[in-house]
Amino acid sequence: MASGWQTMLKRLLEGNHTFRTTEFAGNRDHYTTIAGGQKPEALFICCADSRIEPGKITQTKAGELFVLRNVGNIIPPGDFGIAALLEFAIPQLKIPTIILCGHSGCASIRALDWKPTDEPVSRWLDNAREAKERVDARIPLPQTENEKNARYRQIELENVRLQIEHLLTYPLLKKAVDARRVEVYGLYYDLGSGELTRVT
Ligand SMILES: [Zn+2]
Repeated sequence: MASGWQTMLKRLLEGNHTFRTTEFAGNRDHYTTIAGGQKPEALFICCADSRIEPGKITQTKAGELFVLRNVGNIIPPGDFGIAALLEFAIPQLKIPTIILCGHSGCASIRALDWKPTDEPVSRWLDNAREAKERVDARIPLPQTENEKNARYRQIELENVRLQIEHLLTYPLLKKAVDARRVEVYGLYYDLGSGELTRVT
């Protein structure tokens, strides 16, 4: 009997075969064009959560979104990877729009209530703790299940604002935004309805 990973690998390769014979073959011109070079319209930053498919939820094609995903859609200030991403996205690819997208039911946001430790998840989430602190400072202690969920939603939204603030600590991006070459927007994806809404 095939082991779990062999079964999954088989499924992925069969899926790829279906992709090639339907989507790829049906849009050969588009795929040939983008094989020659990319010119994405937006940098889309979102959580690694498996339930979010940036291309599908925005109905964009391959080549339109330059994507960064990580646990909790977090932008640590002073990070080499983020600096490199922005350097690639702005002066090189000249992407005019940056989206920072949070989502409902984010496990990273719930994990902000765990006791901080030296473990990697906790260290990573240090970059988002301020979102929780801001929300807890402005709402009463939640009592009911509904209030607890509403608090998490508030923190998910505040985390979008906080991570946009972190993005703007990168001088290259700040300069591009000030010169109106780049615009940065916050979005929030609701897993229950499939809706994307603006976060201001
Ligand atoms: Zn998440």
